[in-house]
Amino acid sequence: VTYDVIVVGAGWAGHCAAIAALESGARTLLLEKTELYGGSSAMCGGSFAFAGTDIQLENGIKDSEDALLADLTETGGGLSKADILQAYVDKQLSTYYWLKDLGMRFDRVAISSNQSVPRNHSTDPVQALNLLHDKALSSPRFRYLPNCGAKELITDADGAVVGLRTDSGEDIRAAGGVVLATGGFSRSEDLIARFAPFARSAKKMGGFGNTGDGLKMAWALGADMLDMGNVSPTFGAALVQPDADMQDPPPRILQIMYKGAIVVNKIGKRFVNESVSYKKIGRECMSQPEQAGFQIFDRQVMSQSAPLPRNVNYKRALEAGLIYEAETIRDLALKLGVDADNLVNTVEAYNQACDNKTVDEFGRVSLSSGFGRPTKIDQGPYYGYPCVPGLTSTFCGLATDAQARVLTVFGKTVPGLYAIGELMGGLHGENYMSGSSLGKGCIFGKLAGEDAANRAGCIAEVAS
Ligand SMILES: Cc1cc2nc3c(=O)[nH]c(=O)nc-3n(C[C@H](O)[C@H](O)[C@H](O)COP(=O)(O)OP(=O)(O)OC[C@H]3O[C@@H](n4cnc5c(N)ncnc54)[C@H](O)[C@@H]3O)c2cc1C
Repeated sequence: VTYDVIVVGAGWAGHCAAIAALESGARTLLLEKTELYGGSSAMCGGSFAFAGTDIQLENGIKDSEDALLADLTETGGGLSKADILQAYVDKQLSTYYWLKDLGMRFDRVAISSNQSVPRNHSTDPVQALNLLHDKALSSPRFRYLPNCGAKELITDADGAVVGLRTDSGEDIRAAGGVVLATGGFSRSEDLIARFAPFARSAKKMGGFGNTGDGLKMAWALGADMLDMGNVSPTFGAALVQPDADMQDPPPRILQIMYKGAIVVNKIGKRFVNESVSYKKIGRECMSQPEQAGFQIFDRQVMSQSAPLPRNVNYKRALEAGLIYEAETIRDLALKLGVDADNLVNTVEAYNQACDNKTVDEFGRVSLSSGFGRPTKIDQGPYYGYPCVPGLTSTFCGLATDAQARVLTVFGKTVPGLYAIGELMGGLHGENYMSGSSLGKGCIFGKLAGEDAANRAGCIAEVAS
């Protein structure tokens, strides 16, 4: 069978590319290596970074494309690719409304890492995936193959990608090209050892099929890679991860410091300015005793718990035994196995700085990236969340142009080959702005799906 577009990997980015290809009139095949679609996208917090949306306006949040570009540029530390950043900024709002037109609901907006204003738009990621999957299945031009891994790419005499070979040895052709959406490599010991050796002891998270297959397939064709040296574990992974198919799972990761928690080590001492990126805190935590961190907070912060996004559902984490509760800081320390005298002193010193009686030991003056004022931890009951750095995502990968077309090490496009989602490098640079991974998945997924369909000469569906 010949298709117009083959999409490899049925996570968030792959589904967006498939829908865009179908809307552009393409006969589209979506391959998934594992039994269930979803990958990391089904496990994630469900927060998308968009700027200038209707929900932000309704909530009185002033955001703009300029502010988004400034945050992404600063976060990338000069290492992000300018054309990729510009494409994100230019296309994000139309992509947001495209998703809403497809039926997606964004419930609320919250602040997170490296955002100068609240910009994380939250969804239930599993519902969002199901919505797109059902939408794709409703098209007669769509075929979905689970338990079918892509193994290698097939090229013509000119080096253009014209199809792929599956794990079972079947060759499948695509007139418009192959869109790689295989996610990162957070489950590949081999690639972690090569590109992020210091993160080998971090907790492995992310989709179980995310072993860097797309990276290797494109690598074999001379593809370039970006941001490989900037892989970093994320701070705040729960010690016990929920089963993949659990109903109403507790959060896999929590960053309560952006709502006002402090972060201490086993000795009961702070070791970082908690308002900085969770990747930076993750790196710092790797060198603390037992690589353990404890987020300490009070009733005032707990009252900000909400069902969505999952990563602010502190009450669900408390109920699941991931967060500990006590009437005093001393009792909390004993429950957590943290040095009690030190923790009492640490909280007292922090509260003094919040009252401006002293200067904060680590220079913390905001909740996150300059947003919000730190608040005292003085309203019992008190809470503690023991956690470790987790390798949720690898945030680096194949070099592409602004249309998600893969580039070789010599800067030439590989005709017919696209890389989207976590597999795509060049956006994050040195660091990571929360919500930009799901954001880039849909923005560049849509662009890639449309471009590949165009290449095949497809004619877009006309809305009736
Ligand atoms: C706990 C957690 C919380 C997170 N929270 C957020 C958040 O709130 N906001 C945000 O922006 N990002 C978040 N992230 C990161 C984000 O979820 C991922 O970067 C994003 O979902 C990746 O989407 P993707 O479609 O590129 O890959 P995935 O969703 O991982 O999908 C890739 C798919 O490809 C399949 N595959 C792999 N190899 C092959 C092959 N050879 N053939 C066929 N199929 C293959 C995999 O099995 C998988 O299903 C979080 C990640 C985790 C783990």
